[in-house]
Amino acid sequence: MTVQDDADKALDRARNALRDIFGYSDFRGAQDEVLGRVLTGRSALAVMPTGAGKSLTYQLPAAMLEGTCVTISPLIALMHDQLRSARANGIRAATLTSADADWRETIDSFRAGELDLLYVAPERASQPQFRELLASTRLSLFAIDEAHCVSEWGHDFRPDYRQLRPLLDSFPDVPRLALTATADARTRADILGQLGIPADGLVLAGFDRPNIRYAIRHRDNPVRQIAGIMADNPGPGIVYAPTRRKVEDLAAKLADATGRDVRPYHAGLDPEERKANQSAFVASEDMVVVATIAFGMGIDKPDVRFVAHAGIPKSIEAYYQETGRAGRDGDPAIAVMLWGAGDFATARQRLAELPQDRQMEERERLNALAMLVETAECRRAVLLRHFGEDPPERCGNCDNCLERPGVTDVTELARKLLSAVYRTGQSFGFGHLKKVLTGSQDERIRQRQHDRLSVFGIVGAEDARLLQPLSRALQARGALIPTDHGGLALAGDAPAILKGEKAVEIVLPPKKSSRSGRQARNGAANPVGDPLFDALRDLRKTLAEEQQVPPYVIFHDSVLRDMAAQRPRSQDQMGRISGVGAKKLDAYGEAFLKVIREN
Ligand code: ADP
Ligand code: ZN
Repeated sequence: MTVQDDADKALDRARNALRDIFGYSDFRGAQDEVLGRVLTGRSALAVMPTGAGKSLTYQLPAAMLEGTCVTISPLIALMHDQLRSARANGIRAATLTSADADWRETIDSFRAGELDLLYVAPERASQPQFRELLASTRLSLFAIDEAHCVSEWGHDFRPDYRQLRPLLDSFPDVPRLALTATADARTRADILGQLGIPADGLVLAGFDRPNIRYAIRHRDNPVRQIAGIMADNPGPGIVYAPTRRKVEDLAAKLADATGRDVRPYHAGLDPEERKANQSAFVASEDMVVVATIAFGMGIDKPDVRFVAHAGIPKSIEAYYQETGRAGRDGDPAIAVMLWGAGDFATARQRLAELPQDRQMEERERLNALAMLVETAECRRAVLLRHFGEDPPERCGNCDNCLERPGVTDVTELARKLLSAVYRTGQSFGFGHLKKVLTGSQDERIRQRQHDRLSVFGIVGAEDARLLQPLSRALQARGALIPTDHGGLALAGDAPAILKGEKAVEIVLPPKKSSRSGRQARNGAANPVGDPLFDALRDLRKTLAEEQQVPPYVIFHDSVLRDMAAQRPRSQDQMGRISGVGAKKLDAYGEAFLKVIREN
């Protein structure tokens, strides 16, 4: 029998277990490839985007295989989240962390072989006593979650992860499954090497998150713009803002403007309040958190319907990760970035503070981000190409695909603007430059004799309205940089543009319309005004409060939608709904059937 035959057989069994335990009809994406390896005792590194269903690739083996699966995970909040979901599906799971009071019981049941799944933090896993504990019973699998933490190339290096190898090596027969959502080629090679996983164990799923709709707009009135996004998306949302002060300010104004529960989250908040806001968010079906990027690392909330950036993220990698927190449940979600020229200016100014060798790298990151922001092409295509994929030209689910923006060649106008910057001494702001170029009779202009310059009044009214978006575009690409006193100076490829060696195009946003808003509304999957769906949601909320778990741990929205549409009449029919496994059928089936009968 070949390895492949073995894997196929194992997958047949796994499919039955998938139906029985999770209530899902089939595997998604690369799950079967990962499981085919793991279930036949071979190690693997699974690089799968957020929401692809990584946890299932070790939870299912944990339930199926004899022995305990030990999962190493870097964040306690994340472990507890996973624990709740695993238990809700009837998997015998426990966590061993500094936050758990029941560690004695956990160790006892582990020793007695009564656990399918044990979660531990890396600092504990690397201790010698832990190795002894593991030797006391049979192990089925090591799962190393957030495996990029093992690599210095990754974005979140954790030295404790480096200490895992001796532990893994002392159980040579136990396969290892490393999991991560983001790892470039260098990081992947590093993870394989560090954790002793053979190179053929790499399973790479695409980066695409098709259910997320990307939109990038200029920021003219963030409160109004984000309030608009909130109006279109009644579900939970995250708004990222660059500073603590802006977080506080936006949270207050959005709460005011929308009347919704909007809360701040940043590292400067009182720890109690921060924790309370985070748990309220996880449990909520409609709350919005305004946060610095400190938020999101430890949460695994599947039903986040929108992520809005009130300013530019640090890089495309950061953007992908932050927007990736939307729509993990696979339902439609939207990611909107609002940007201003000043964002790029500030980011470029910060570059100067970095050591020389880092500057180059960071400048490239910023340029890549500016390209994404400025492009008239498909956003998703730009994003996926950045990650080395070869996506189709158009995705049909981003702002530029849904409404093609106009592109105009403004090379001549750019040369006029840049030369006005040069001739006025590279110390005036946009307002003054515009007055000079359009020939405005202004006191300040006469005083400085700028009305005698060759660039005075060389831009007509038609072109004048393009000056602002042009200035923005030139700042985004770094051809114009701000001076310390609020002026603009030449930089980057400004000389090449002035010499006519480089062309400049700008993207003209589509005329203001409510279309994007309407589309977002159409994008939401939940029915509006369906009394049965609402009643099922109410029941879910009651059960969630009783059991002190977030509503999605009981059932995802998609499960309630299926119930409302199919109206199952019996336990049997209920069990056929995707997402209703044996344990949940047993625990909740009757209660939901009753609601269906009564509505
Ligand atoms: P990741 O860890 O990769 O971000 P999760 O493991 O949290 O993703 O899974 C995301 C969601 O997809 C979960 O709610 C999970 O129950 C669901 N899911 C996983 N596998 C399947 C599947 N084969 N069919 C349907 N839903 C699935
Ligand atoms: Zn697109």
